[in-house]
Amino acid sequence: TKWVYKFGNGEAEGRAVDRELLGGKGANLAEMSSLGLPVPPGLTIIADACAAYFKQGSSIDDELKRQVLAGIEGIEAITGKKFGDGHRPLLLSVRSGARVSMPGMMDTVLNLGLNDETVHALGHDAGDARFAWDSYRRFIQMYSDVVMGLDNDVFEEILEDEKARLGYEYDTELTAGEWQHVVTLYKDVIEEELGQEFPQDPEVQLWGAVGSVFSSWKSARAVTYRQLHNIPDVWGTAVNVQAMVFGNLGNASATGVAFTRNPSTGERSLYGEFLVNAQGEDVVAGIRTPQSITEDGRISSGSDRPSMEKLMPEAFKEFSQICDRLEQHYRDMQDIEFTIERGKLWMLQTRSGKRSTRAAMKIAVDMVDEGVITEREAVLRIDPASLDQLLHPTIDPRVPREVIGTGLPASPGAATGEIVFTAEEAVVAEEEGRKVILLRVETSPEDIHGMHAAEGILTTRGGMTSHAAVVARGMGIPCVVGAGTMRIDLRNERLIGIGVTLEKGDIITIDGSAGQVLKGEVQMVQPELSGDFGRIMKWADSVRRMTVRTNADTPADARAARSFGAEGIGLCRTEHMFFEGERIHVMREMILAEDELGRRAALDKLLPIQRLDFTGLFNVMHGLPVTIRLLDPPLHEFLPKTEEEIADVAAAMGMEATALRQRVDALHEFNPMLGHRGCRLAISYPEIVEMQARAIFEAAVAAAHETGAAVVPEIMVPLVGLRSELDYVKDRIDAIARDVMNEAGMRIDYLVGTMIELPRAALRAHIIAEAAEFFSFGTNDLTQTTFGISRDDASAFIPTYQRKGIIEHDPFISLDFDGVGELIRIAAERGRRTRNDMKLGICGEHGGDPASIHFCEDIGLDYVSCSPFRVPIARLAAAQAVI
Ligand code: ADP
Ligand code: MG
Ligand code: MG
Repeated sequence: TKWVYKFGNGEAEGRAVDRELLGGKGANLAEMSSLGLPVPPGLTIIADACAAYFKQGSSIDDELKRQVLAGIEGIEAITGKKFGDGHRPLLLSVRSGARVSMPGMMDTVLNLGLNDETVHALGHDAGDARFAWDSYRRFIQMYSDVVMGLDNDVFEEILEDEKARLGYEYDTELTAGEWQHVVTLYKDVIEEELGQEFPQDPEVQLWGAVGSVFSSWKSARAVTYRQLHNIPDVWGTAVNVQAMVFGNLGNASATGVAFTRNPSTGERSLYGEFLVNAQGEDVVAGIRTPQSITEDGRISSGSDRPSMEKLMPEAFKEFSQICDRLEQHYRDMQDIEFTIERGKLWMLQTRSGKRSTRAAMKIAVDMVDEGVITEREAVLRIDPASLDQLLHPTIDPRVPREVIGTGLPASPGAATGEIVFTAEEAVVAEEEGRKVILLRVETSPEDIHGMHAAEGILTTRGGMTSHAAVVARGMGIPCVVGAGTMRIDLRNERLIGIGVTLEKGDIITIDGSAGQVLKGEVQMVQPELSGDFGRIMKWADSVRRMTVRTNADTPADARAARSFGAEGIGLCRTEHMFFEGERIHVMREMILAEDELGRRAALDKLLPIQRLDFTGLFNVMHGLPVTIRLLDPPLHEFLPKTEEEIADVAAAMGMEATALRQRVDALHEFNPMLGHRGCRLAISYPEIVEMQARAIFEAAVAAAHETGAAVVPEIMVPLVGLRSELDYVKDRIDAIARDVMNEAGMRIDYLVGTMIELPRAALRAHIIAEAAEFFSFGTNDLTQTTFGISRDDASAFIPTYQRKGIIEHDPFISLDFDGVGELIRIAAERGRRTRNDMKLGICGEHGGDPASIHFCEDIGLDYVSCSPFRVPIARLAAAQAVI
C-alpha cells in the first residue's frame, strides 16, 4: 500500500479532492503546493493507516516507517537540512487532519527533532541561540503534554516563576541563557513526574508523535464530538509531517491567521490577526494581544499597534495576492494559517471558513456578482436551518448580558416584556398595548390565546417537543422551556431566578435562540428580509419544484406566512379557533348539550364565528389554496379539568358542578391520542362537520365576492383509517356543498381529502384514494402511530435512546425515513395508482425540517407545509433538494 503522499517545491502527489484519503488539511496542503504557493515541504500519512495502526495493537509497522523516512529524505532534499543532524537539523511539525475538521483531536507538535545536541546546531545555523532555546522549550512543553500526557500547567508554572524571579512581563524578554535554564527545569520536572527522561532520539520522538495522532482519534473528546456530529468512527485521521518554518525567528518573523472575507459581516476585505516573533497557536492562545493584518482593520479596531500591512509590506502584498488566488481557486471564503520567517511568507493551511448566517448570505451573493459562483451554487451555500436566526429580532451581540436563568432554546429570536403568570393577563395586556412575556410551569391548549398575545413564552418545565415549544415555534414566538434554574411562585406571582426575585410587571428579555433569560430590556437587531436574503430566496424559488405552504389558523399567521413567501395554507387547525375568547363557552355548551338538538343550537351560534374565521383566511390568501382540517382533538380537551375550574365553568353555564363533573368524567379517555377524535367525532356528531362545512362554503362565497379571487377550499378529514369513514364524512360535506351552492346561486370548486396519519390508511391508500382527492401526510401522528410512541411522553426516554445509540435522531423532529418514510412512500405510490393527478403534501413539524424536505422531494410530493417562520427555510431546502 502507498501509505505516504508527498508535497512541496511546487509539486504534490495528492490534490484537494483527495480529502477522504489525505484528510482536509493534507489535501489542501497538497493542493496549495501544486499551485506553486510557498508551502513548507512535507508528507501526509493517509487516514487508512489509522485503522491499520489500531489493528496492530497501536503500533506503527515497519513498512509505514520506511515510507515515512523515505518521505523525510524528500523533505531533506528540498530544504537542504537533515533530520537529527548535528549541523543543520531539520525540524518537523506533526499535525493531525481528519476528513472534516474536528476539535477534540490531537494538538499539533511543533519543533520535533530538537534535543540537547541539535538545539546548539539550530542556534548556530540560524545565528540566533535565543531562538533555538525558545523553540526547544516549546517542543518539550508540547511533546510532554500531547505525547507523554504531562499537563502543560506544570510548565506554565515554572515559566511564570522564572519570569517573576527575573522581573519580566513577557516571554520575549527572556535571553538565550535564561531559556536554556528553563529547559533544564522542564527536563527535571519531567523526570520527577514521569520517572523517565525526555526522549532525545528524533526518530523516537517522531513515532511517538505519529502514534499520538492516531490514538487521539479514539480519545474521549474526539469520540463524543463524532457522536454529536454523526461522523463515522471508521474514517480515522491522517497525519501530516512537515518541515518547520519559524515565526519566532526575530522581529522580521511572525505567525497569523486570516479570513479572506469578514466572517461575521461577510464584507469583502481581508480580516485577520498576527503576532511578531511568535509561533503556532500564540495568536489564539491570548498570551499577547495580536495585531491586525490590514491597516483598515487596525483603524476600525482602534489599535495603536502597527498592522502587518505597515510593518511587513512585502510579505503583506504577497499574502493578500495569495488570499485572492485561493479564493478564486476554491471559489469560497478561506480560513488561512501562515507564518513569516525572516520576511519570507509560508502558507500552512487553508480551508473554507466558518461564518455567520448573515455573512454566508452576503458572501454567496457577492460571489455571484463577482462571477465566481452560479446562482444555484449560491443557493447551496446557505444552511437552511441557519435562516431561523435571521427571521426574528435578535439580541444585539455587542451588548452585555445579565443572565438570570437558562433553559432550552425552544423557539428562536428574542423578546422583551413584563412578566405575567396567566394567559388571561397576557390577553388583557395585549389589549392595553403592553408587551408581556408569559410565564408558565408548562402550557396547555387553554393557554393558546395567551401565548398568541405574548411577545415571548418562558416555562420552567418541559423539553423541545413540549406543548409550549411546539406551539411557540408554530407561532414564531420566541420561547425558552425547561428553565429549571428558575422557579415560578404562582401564589405570590413571583419569578425566582439566579440571584434575583422578580414581581409581576417586572421586565425580562428571553433569548429563544440561546435558551437564556435576561434581566430588563436589551438592545435588539431587526431581521432584514430584503437585500441578500431576498436575492437568495428568489434564486431558490426559481429552481424548486415543490410548493411551500404554511400551517396557519388565523389571518395574522397567514399574513406573516405570506410575507415569508407561503404559497397556500397546508393545514388550518380549526380547533385552535374554539379556544379564543367567548367561543370556548359556546363550544362547551355544544359539548355538554343533552342531545343533538341542543348541540345544533350551540353550533348555530358557532357558525357565524367560524364563517368569519374562514373569510378572513380566504381574503388573506387571495385565491391561493387553503386546506382546512375538520375538528380533530377529543372533546374533553375543551372542558375544565381541576375542581376549581369545574366550579367556575359550572357557575358560568348555570349548571350544577356535580353534573358538570359527571360529564367531564364521562368524556375522560385513557389514551386520548388513540381515542374519540378525528373523523370518529365527525361520525358520532355529524352536525359538527355540517356546521364546519357550511362555514367553509359560505366563507368561500363571501371571499369570492370580496376579493374577486375564487377560492378552492380543500377540506381535510383527519385520522381516517377506513375508506368507509371517509365516505360517511364526505357525503355530509357534499350535501352541504350542494345546499350552499343552491342558496348562493354560484358554483364552488372544492376538494375533499384526507390526512394520512394511520398506518392502515397508508396501506389502503389505493382504496381511500377512490374517495379522497388529496392526501396530506400528518407526520406527527403517523410517527406516533407507526412507532407506537406517544409524542407527549417521548421525552421520558428518547434522550436516553439517543445517548445509548438506540436511535440517532428524535423521530418527531427529523422524519424516520426507514419506517414512517416507507409508509409515506407506499401511500403516495398506491394513492397515485388510483388517482394519478392526486395532490400530495406533508404537514406537521417535519414539513419545515430540511432533511425531511429532501425526502419529500425524492418521493415526489407536491408541497410541504410548515409554520410561518419556517417557510423561508422550507423554500431554500426544497430548492437544494432539486439541485
Ligand atoms: P489545528 O488543526 O489545530 O489548526 P495545525 O496543524 O494547523 O493545528 O497547527 C496549528 C498551528 O501550528 C498552525 O496554525 C501553525 O501556526 C503551526 N504550525 C503547524 N505546522 C507548522 C509548520 N510546519 N511550521 C510552522 N508552524 C506550524
Ligand atoms: Mg490549523
Ligand atoms: Mg393528526
